[in-house]
Amino acid sequence: MSSTGVKLKRLKLGDLLQRDVWDVDEARHIEVLDQRGLPIKALLLLCPMGCYTMAGERLLMSYEGCVECATCRVLSNPHQIRWEYPRSGRGIQYRFT
Ligand code: SF4
Repeated sequence: MSSTGVKLKRLKLGDLLQRDVWDVDEARHIEVLDQRGLPIKALLLLCPMGCYTMAGERLLMSYEGCVECATCRVLSNPHQIRWEYPRSGRGIQYRFT
C-alpha cells in the first residue's frame, strides 16, 4: 500500500508483455543485410524477445515478435541491419492497463 492509500501491484516484464498483442505485417520491418562486423553476441543476449538466433554461422532474425525497442538498431549500422517501424497500425500494440 502506498502513502496515498493506492494499492500498488508489482508486475514482471513477462506479465506485461503477455497483455500486448501483435498485428504482424507480412512486410518485414527489420532485416539483416550484412552480418560482418555485427556484435552478434550482444544481439543474441540483448534483444528482449529473442528475435536473433544462430543457424550455424548464419545470424537469423525473426521480426514477428519484435517489440520495437530499437536495441538492435543501436547496436548496428544501417548497412548491417535495415531497421524501420512496421507500417502504420501494424506490429506490437502495447496494453498498459
Ligand atoms: S527492435 Fe528490439 S525487440 Fe525488435 S528485434 Fe531489435 S532488439 Fe529485438
